[in-house]
Amino acid sequence: MKSKLSKKKVEELRKRLVRKPQLVWDLVRPGEKKKIFEFAERYKGFLDGAKTEREGVHAIESFAKENGFKDITKGGGGKKFYKINKNKNIALAVLGKNPLSSGMNLIASHIDSPRLDLKQNPLYEEVDLAFLKTHYYGGIKKYQWLARPLAIHGTVLKKDGHALDLQIGESPKDPVFTIADLLPHLSRKLQSDKKVSEAFEGEKLNLLVGSLPLGDDETKERFKLAVLEYLFSAYGVIEEDLMSAEIEIVPAGRARDVGFDRGLIGAYGQDDRACAYASLEALGGVETPEKAAVALFMDKEEIGSEGSTGAKSRFLEDFVSDLFEGTGQEASAKALRSCLMKSRALSADANAALDPDYQEVHEKRNAARIGYGVCITKFTGSRGKYGSSDANAEYLADIRRLFNGNKVVWQTGEIGKVDEGGGGTIAKFLAVYGMEVLDCGTPILSMHSPFEIASKADIYMTYKAYHAFFDKI
Ligand code: MN
Ligand code: MN
Repeated sequence: MKSKLSKKKVEELRKRLVRKPQLVWDLVRPGEKKKIFEFAERYKGFLDGAKTEREGVHAIESFAKENGFKDITKGGGGKKFYKINKNKNIALAVLGKNPLSSGMNLIASHIDSPRLDLKQNPLYEEVDLAFLKTHYYGGIKKYQWLARPLAIHGTVLKKDGHALDLQIGESPKDPVFTIADLLPHLSRKLQSDKKVSEAFEGEKLNLLVGSLPLGDDETKERFKLAVLEYLFSAYGVIEEDLMSAEIEIVPAGRARDVGFDRGLIGAYGQDDRACAYASLEALGGVETPEKAAVALFMDKEEIGSEGSTGAKSRFLEDFVSDLFEGTGQEASAKALRSCLMKSRALSADANAALDPDYQEVHEKRNAARIGYGVCITKFTGSRGKYGSSDANAEYLADIRRLFNGNKVVWQTGEIGKVDEGGGGTIAKFLAVYGMEVLDCGTPILSMHSPFEIASKADIYMTYKAYHAFFDKI
């Protein structure tokens, strides 16, 4: 039997053996604290300018151009390239010292967020008010979208194919739109006594857009007509144009600091623009990495990564083929497959932070916490890891060493207690190529709500993690 250890020895053992979660604010020096707050300002600017995937692509392209990236479809040499897929999905690359055949370091995020989309035939009037019908996109709690200012962002393709970009409700001079909710005096039977999942119907998420009539009381549908008249005089848009449009209803307003100390950011769409922006700025700061560094910004993650701009599409293969050809190599099926197989990826997605008011849905020892740095998640999925790609321990060991060696404050997380719920990311769609993939992103409170919360410290550590991944691995 071992002899009894002294108090000092026990403390020494504890220090050596036990992992202590590290609060970023306890570790950073004043210089780095300043960097955290400066990064947050740039990030808020990105959030305000990129509320939809199309706006995201536009903002990312502007950043790419300012930082010397060239459109790969236009030819020409260099080491920094980008490619846009159908205005909703974009990839950036910085070529490395090693040839592409040795694999890439890839960070993939998504730039779509839950919202309300307009239906194809949206405009109607009811009790002398004009409305637009919507169909929600992604996982929302419907009641969070009622009785709040909403903005219209989108693109309308007119009869002649000409594209018109709309953004109404963000400038203080603009009107906003809203979905009215039932007053509490009358909502007992229809809402309060029902299960939440039944109390709010998708078909009742109708956007209030007008109240002034056109013509006189003989005029048919004069409130609807008044809106059409406005759309035509302001934008040259007719009703049928709304059928070839993608118009998204998002919360109106800018990203804000939250709390007396301004340590948090509250904004729409931080899932997953926190990771998107962190990977963008990380790549912008990379000049000559060992291996090619690629940042991929996907669409359609919130509806299962379907579609030609989602992670299930072949856009990544197409972009990597272009990189091969751009460097004078043949993009044979074998070369492409081998490059992807040897690549390493971070699936850069937001994770659910431990909710102070609903701690019972988390398992506290394994939940990510606000302020404890970037979160790595070995597996997602639900009911027995179903639907998860489950990262390899060998790869986790590499990433752990990388982060520890580069002063990245990190923690692990999971999407809730076992059997509580769960979720997925695009990790599994990258894993099909045989590349190593690990989920790694920012913990978020109030995720998928119109006002998601993240810590400035965690967002900055996400950036630092991604920069190390591109530049130091
Ligand atoms: Mn996400
Ligand atoms: Mn999401």
